[in-house]
Amino acid sequence: MIASNRLPVQVTVSDAGAIDLTPSAGGLVNALRGVATPFTWVGWPGAVVPAAAQAELADRLAADRLEPVFLEQADEAGFYGRICNDTIWPLFHDFVGRMSFTDAAWERYVDVNRRFAEQLAARSAHGARVWVHDFHLMLVPAALRELRPDLSIGFFLHIPFPSTEIFQLLPSREEVLLGLLGADQVGFHTSEYARHFRSSCLDVLGIDSGPDGIGHGGRVVGIGADPIGIDVAHFQDVLGRPETAAMVDELAARYRGQRLVLGVERLDYSKGVPQKLRAFERFLEDDPARAETTTLLQVLVPSRLESADYRELRAEIEQESARINGRFGRPGRTPVECLHRSVSPAELVALYRRADVMAVTPLRDGMNLVAQEFVLCQTAAPKLPGRARGVLLLSEFAGAAQVLPGALLVNPWDTADLAARLVEALELAPAERCRRLALMSGAVRRLAAPRWAEGCLDRLAQPEPVAGTRL
Ligand code: UDP
Repeated sequence: MIASNRLPVQVTVSDAGAIDLTPSAGGLVNALRGVATPFTWVGWPGAVVPAAAQAELADRLAADRLEPVFLEQADEAGFYGRICNDTIWPLFHDFVGRMSFTDAAWERYVDVNRRFAEQLAARSAHGARVWVHDFHLMLVPAALRELRPDLSIGFFLHIPFPSTEIFQLLPSREEVLLGLLGADQVGFHTSEYARHFRSSCLDVLGIDSGPDGIGHGGRVVGIGADPIGIDVAHFQDVLGRPETAAMVDELAARYRGQRLVLGVERLDYSKGVPQKLRAFERFLEDDPARAETTTLLQVLVPSRLESADYRELRAEIEQESARINGRFGRPGRTPVECLHRSVSPAELVALYRRADVMAVTPLRDGMNLVAQEFVLCQTAAPKLPGRARGVLLLSEFAGAAQVLPGALLVNPWDTADLAARLVEALELAPAERCRRLALMSGAVRRLAAPRWAEGCLDRLAQPEPVAGTRL
């Protein structure tokens, strides 16, 4: 059984009650594609479904082994809108000042987690493996163990686990740790996050631990560092499509004679886009002639625009870009280009291929798959033009920095250093670019997605917890 906040479909229900299902993508969907073990996926279908339509929807989803957890608008507002988005997301990404918490919203979080646990308990076969995902469901492992001690329960956190001083600010810190310790295996992307978790267990609960496990309730809870990878086969497929080749040609013509610095981010304050723009401005200030030869193309995939904070962030990025273009551009030449939309797979892959520098500079990021995707698209498909030309500029605060040894690491808060690293990246000799990309390509292929999932699931099948990948 797999459990995550969202099912891998988007359900819409029309006013007349007609149900529409659209598959939705995401890191977890891609990572589970190709997993040999058949599984049932439990999660919210992405819409409030009227009671009259629930049975029909459940039947349709059952055909794909999907099992909906039906939530009301008020559940979503308190559980997802408040606790997930306004408490856990900012705190776990070190944005302490953005955190807010109310007891009423927390009760919704507890209640929704309990309902997930009840549904999993009702549906899981005896002794089944249940793999629970991410920060939305941190109380599920303990709640589920209480109902069904026969199950093997795994948990994976897809965002960072903050340092213990920061974690301790969470009013419900004991509950969260005890919730996670209900699992047999708790997985993180990096050994740093696992270490933070262990320190928090010691500081908050007084439970000491070894590097690979924590004794709790007469059991040993295994702790693993298992960095997630990308769906390599999918990107190889897109790289081979004719529309990708056409897009590569189009970009070659569009940016002929230009150095292209690329950013691809979901709109989120954790991604550090304003900081990146400031560094690019510094880069142009240091030598305004660079505005003629270098373009920063920032793809911003819309996200959470129902939130005023996110709309403000978008406005800030737009203003900053316009200001830089006003300062350094001229008619027909704008050094910063911003795309506020998602791009097609072919467009994305062609952009990765064309980029001279991929600037992945989040202030904090659990893993960051864009960095891995860039490396793969630069190094695969030998017949497609533009191979192995790019450099990865990577924030040291992304989980990806722990697994991509050939990246140029930067502190995104250090504007001058980020600007200097950008110059260094643009000037790196071709042979050095190739060497770095080859190093990283090996890592990306080793982390490829089905292996990540199979490894975590295999470990759950073991009678005793086994250590995760040591980084
Ligand atoms: N992506 C997307 N649509 C786009 C551009 C990118 O779906 O228009 C994908 C991208 O390929 C990557 C994901 O969004 O797989 C972003 O994942 P990442 O781990 O970098 O950041 P997250 O958004 O999960 O914080």
